[in-house]
Amino acid sequence: MDNCIFCKIARREIPSNKIYEDDEILAFNDINPAAPVHFLLIPKLHIESLADVQDSHQNLLGKMLLLAQKLAKEQGCEEGFRTIINTGRVGGQEVFHLHFHIIGGRERLPGMIHHG
Ligand code: AMP
Ligand code: ZN
Repeated sequence: MDNCIFCKIARREIPSNKIYEDDEILAFNDINPAAPVHFLLIPKLHIESLADVQDSHQNLLGKMLLLAQKLAKEQGCEEGFRTIINTGRVGGQEVFHLHFHIIGGRERLPGMIHHG
């Protein structure tokens, strides 16, 4: 996609602080980190959101989840981390190219789900 910022990062038209890359997947640090560790895991394929994934993406999605825990540990999240996939307007998605946020650090992250 010509104007997608994460496609541009995948094509190296925009620089990123890359922590992992293979044929299908890229991981780079979030430009506005919410915690000491905060990176994004994206497919190089332009998929708009988790609401747009297809059966044909099953292997890719599984590979991304396996990488999430591997990279999280490598980045210093041995004691846990949070994985967030904002989806669509209601989910607060701002960049419409599927991405997993991996967030962590030494301290326990604040609670996130508020009931009532
Ligand atoms: P979301 O609300 O899930 O769509 O979050 C998009 C995320 O992308 C935000 O956390 C941004 O800080 C991050 N982001 C936007 N542009 C860049 C960039 N050029 N490099 C790294 N992270 C970015
Ligand atoms: Zn894209």
